Parts: sequence; structure tokens; C-alpha cells
Amino acid sequence: MKQSHLFTKTRKDAPKDEVAKNAQLLIRAGYVHKEMAGVYSFLPLGLKVIENIKTIVREEMNKIGGQELSLPALQDKNLWEKTGRWDDKVVDNWFKTKIANGTETGLGLSHEEPLTNLVAGYVSSYKDLPFSAYQFQTKFRNEMRAKSGLMRGREFLMKDMYSFSATEEQHLEAFKKAREAYVTVFKRVGLGEITYVTQASGGVFSNELSEEFQTISDAGEDVIYVKDDMTAANDEVLADERVVGMGFSKNLSEKKSIEVGNIFHLGTKYSDALGLKFKTDTAEEKSVIMGCYGIGIGRLMGTIVEALSDENGIIWPESVAPFKAHLLCLAPDDENVKMLADDIYRELEGNVLYDDREHARGGEKFADADLMGMPYQIIVGKKSHQDAIEVKHRKTGKVETKSMSEIIEWLQSK
Ligand code: ATP
Ligand code: MG
Repeated sequence: MKQSHLFTKTRKDAPKDEVAKNAQLLIRAGYVHKEMAGVYSFLPLGLKVIENIKTIVREEMNKIGGQELSLPALQDKNLWEKTGRWDDKVVDNWFKTKIANGTETGLGLSHEEPLTNLVAGYVSSYKDLPFSAYQFQTKFRNEMRAKSGLMRGREFLMKDMYSFSATEEQHLEAFKKAREAYVTVFKRVGLGEITYVTQASGGVFSNELSEEFQTISDAGEDVIYVKDDMTAANDEVLADERVVGMGFSKNLSEKKSIEVGNIFHLGTKYSDALGLKFKTDTAEEKSVIMGCYGIGIGRLMGTIVEALSDENGIIWPESVAPFKAHLLCLAPDDENVKMLADDIYRELEGNVLYDDREHARGGEKFADADLMGMPYQIIVGKKSHQDAIEVKHRKTGKVETKSMSEIIEWLQSK
């Protein structure tokens, strides 16, 4: 893509009221636009990152048998009354509104209710179980503080998966598979070395512990105690004897962290309330055992920026970068330089962002490339020729000289 065609531009400053580093950098680099506190638009480059993250998550959910669907944002009050979660005293972050006929609806903050209700229409026997279904969907939560940029939105994209099992054994198998898939997802998006499988409280519905995926970052709102084997415990559960029994205590290294995902045991709370039952092989009627598994897609994008950027800007891992490389034409008014850069671009169109701008100076192009964070910069200047073009690694700053054909072959294979 040619940068001269991109309607968005980089900016020197982020809005004054934006205090989170992730949003400041993403706004300055032209990935997102701040509509209001906790509400962001995704611009063309930002949407590419979101789609890359979604593709990774989707591949891993499909690998463990997840079936993708899409549930509505508008919620049926009756269903949420059945589980007791319509009440603002129980769930305090609803966005509710009136329907024109005088009844009420709410904007979905999670989707246990509609999915459990829907599934009840299809499940009747143990033979229909187990299975898992998931979606990518915009959630709405009236969060009190929305000062963490993409990490705490009032409107945000989540991947939520739910498992439905006949037996505890099936449920634990689904839970284990989800855990493994999550570990793979966080590795693939470049956070593997700083993301811990963390013991956490099970919430209100289950005695069992839940697990959170916590990425180390000073911008995090959570505090965890970590071990070398990439496991940790949230400080909220350190009093639980099971957690102590696993060897967690305040003697371990304490870190601030961001919860990028979590996996929960739901037991039969929702299936009991909404009549999701099945018959066993001895014709006994039982409630379906459920689990739920969330990943904040926007929060994950913000976390990557928080955790991996440097003083010059964003550093995207290759797996989520909008383009593998940023092609910089440093002297567009020099015919030879322009021709060489154009030639490279023609071969790599979909893989590179081409800074072909005529009126931007070299220094500005370098600064923008560092801010925008493509993993590699292909630098075409007056000294370049077909057999010698500089390639700079954004993360390490290392510069290599490669021939045009080497560059093309290397990037086309990515
Ligand atoms: P938190 O404790 O941070 O409020 P949560 O326990 O409310 O998170 P869940 O309801 O389990 O989170 O949602 C699943 C995932 O969605 C979380 O692990 C997180 O990655 C993401 N998430 C939750 N709230 C937000 C938000 N306001 N903005 C962006 N992502 C969010
Ligand atoms: Mg919350």
C-alpha cells in the first residue's frame, strides 16, 4: 500500500486527555481514533492489526474444535432476569436502553445467557455433547474508569468461547484444551515470554479456581506473583490454600500485569437457570456443565503496544503487523532512486507499506517508520542500487545490506 494514498497521517501529539501509552502511540501512528473515553475507532492500519490477531485466535479456536457463530448485541431482558444478572445491583456496568414499545433491552456485556438459551433448543441427549462455540463480538460495559486506552474500553472487541459438557471429565478436557490454545495464541502474537498462566479466584459461581493469562507490564492493573515455569498467582487468591499448596506466596517475584484472557468454570449456573438439560445413557436428566473462555482482542492489541514498544514508537511482531515491511524512498525526486523503490514495491505490493511521499524529508520518513512499527524497514536512498539495499530491523536496530532479489524473495516467503 502506498502511504501517499492513506488518508490517515501520523501526528506529533496525542490528544491531551489520553493518558495511556498504548492509545497515545496508536493515535499518533494513525491506527486508532479516540471518539470519547473508552471508545475508539479502528483506522485502516489498525483494522489490519485487529484482523491479524483475530485470524490467529480463530485458527487456534478452530483447532480445538470451536464452532464460530455470532450472537446479537441487543439482549433479551427476560433471559437475564432468569439468571439474576439483569439487576444493576448484581451487574453494575450495564448499558440499558428503552425499546420504542416501552420495554427494555441492554447492550451485551457477555453472552452466557443468549448462548445457553439458544443451545437448549438443540441439546437433548448426552450424544449431543460435548462441544464448544465461540464468537468475536463487540461488548459494551459501563466501566467506571476508562483511562487505560484500548485496555479498558466501554465498547470493545472480545473473543468469547463457551464449552458445553455432559460430564466433569469432558469439561476438564475442554478446559485443558482451551488453556493450551491460549498459550499458543499468546506465543503467536509475540507475548509468549511475558505471559503467565495465573491462578485466580473462580468468581461468584464456582468454587474452582479460574485461570487468567497475565502479561507483565507496568501499565497493568493487576499484581501477580510469578514462577520461572511461566505460571503465577493473582494477589487476590494468595489466601486460598490450594494456591498456597501449589507453591505460590508473596516470597515470589511480584509483577504488575495485564489480564489479556481468562478461562472459567461455570458449573451448571446458567444451564440450571435457563433449562439447558440432557438425558444420560440411563435416561437420567442432568444440567449441562459449562466453561467460558475470553480474550480481549482490543486489549491484546493495546498490550502488545504497551509491552513491546520503545522510546521511538511501536514495534509490531511480524505475526500481527499490518505490513511486514516499510519501504522508504528517501529521494523521490531522484529518478534512479524512485525507479528502484517503485520496482521493489511492484513485487511486494501487499506486503509493504511504501512511503512514496514526495514532500516528506528523509528524517521524517525514518521517524514515522519507527513510530508506525513495521518489523523491517527497506531503505532506498541515493547510495542504494539493485545489489545493495539497506534493511533495518525495527526491534534491534540492526542494519543488513541485501540485493533487491534477496529482499523480494525473503518478504514474499513471509
Ligand atoms: P477486568 O478484570 O480487566 O475488568 P473481566 O474479568 O471483567 O476483566 P471478562 O469479563 O472475563 O473480564 O472478559 C474477558 C476478557 O475480555 C478479559 O480477560 C479481558 O482481556 C477483556 N476485557 C474485559 N473487560 C474489558 C474492557 N473493558 N476493555 C477491553 N477488554 C476487556
Ligand atoms: Mg471487568
